[in-house]
Amino acid sequence: MKVAERTKKIKPSPTLAISAKANRMRAEGINVLSFGAGEPDFDTPGNIKEAAIRAIEEGFTKYTAVEGIDELKTAIIDKFRKDNNLSYEKSQIVVSCGAKHSLYNITQALFEKGDEVIIPAPYWVSYLDMVLLTDATPVVIETDEDGGFKITATQLENAITGATRALILNSPSNPTGAVYSHNELTSLAEVLAGKDIVIISDDIYEKILYHDSSFCNIAGINDEIRSKTIVVNGVSKTYAMTGWRIGYAAGPAEVISEVVKIQSQNTSNPTSIAQKAAVEALLGDQQMTVHMVEEFRKRRDYIVCALNAIHGIECTNPTGAFYVFPRVSALFGKAAGGRTISDSTALSAYLLDEVQVAVVPGSAFGSDGHIRLSYATSMETIREGIERIGKALRALA
Ligand SMILES: *Cc1c(COP(=O)(O)O)cnc(C)c1O
Repeated sequence: MKVAERTKKIKPSPTLAISAKANRMRAEGINVLSFGAGEPDFDTPGNIKEAAIRAIEEGFTKYTAVEGIDELKTAIIDKFRKDNNLSYEKSQIVVSCGAKHSLYNITQALFEKGDEVIIPAPYWVSYLDMVLLTDATPVVIETDEDGGFKITATQLENAITGATRALILNSPSNPTGAVYSHNELTSLAEVLAGKDIVIISDDIYEKILYHDSSFCNIAGINDEIRSKTIVVNGVSKTYAMTGWRIGYAAGPAEVISEVVKIQSQNTSNPTSIAQKAAVEALLGDQQMTVHMVEEFRKRRDYIVCALNAIHGIECTNPTGAFYVFPRVSALFGKAAGGRTISDSTALSAYLLDEVQVAVVPGSAFGSDGHIRLSYATSMETIREGIERIGKALRALA
């Protein structure tokens, strides 16, 4: 059957594909250790589950307003005021079926053929494909360890053309864990001053931070920047709620209303009971997140050290999110058992086949010299997994 051209522009999410393959191997009885997961391994807290159960029992199981219930929008507005010192009206908030859905609807509302969208690499896998689906052109700015995986004001300035419509920022970053400081954001804001460029700030890992300085969003730099910024966030990562599918966006009312219009023609509202759960997540006890981040920190400390002890791997210390993004390019060209490690995809396939360890190739994030490992998994898995990786890499010559 003939399918539309647009389907050929994009690929399935590579991270979800790795998880699916690891699950298939597991179902066959193979002991796969997976570093592929892009979600916390913790359970959703009990108070949040209870709020959803209550919603079901009370019959809160029908369509809601497309853009989300008032109660949740109010909780989101409070969160922005309290955590980020940003104030919004209800008309500036949309609740979607996950932050990914908010981002998708935003790209559909903003971009079209001829537009350029600046995406710093390494980037989250979906930004590029979402932009491609709008027929706009992604303009990738490369970064590496030397700059802490962050773009500089000069790089941004050089990437801007008359066609630039937006910059997508993700701090803390998936996959690198890089976090932009207030000073760094200020210098990016200076480049963007007076220009008709939207900033999409994906703050989904806001609470998963390992240093003492507080989280900083570019929207907080000054009023002009705030008026051009759309902040995207959600409950998936902070509250271990990936399956509930609740994310949200805040920005100029005239854009949010278009995002809501698009949402009204695809999903309608996000799930009613999940919205009630999200209210509890935002307003209820926040201790579980603190505990989760403490655990992530211990695992990060361990995995960074253990990876750096392996010959051929160099791993920087991420300051946020729950991923490490070690450089593995020193291994390229080596071989074992007639198999040459030519790139990050070949290395990932080698690790899965030889020692049953699932990692994601860096090429999926626009950086082929790396692989991504999620440490949102047990310490036991991390210990044994890194041991297996070490063994597999020592066999290369
Ligand atoms: C997980 C993730 C998302 C999507 O989160 P959902 O709310 O579950 O859709 C968005 N951006 C980044 C960078 C992520 O890692």
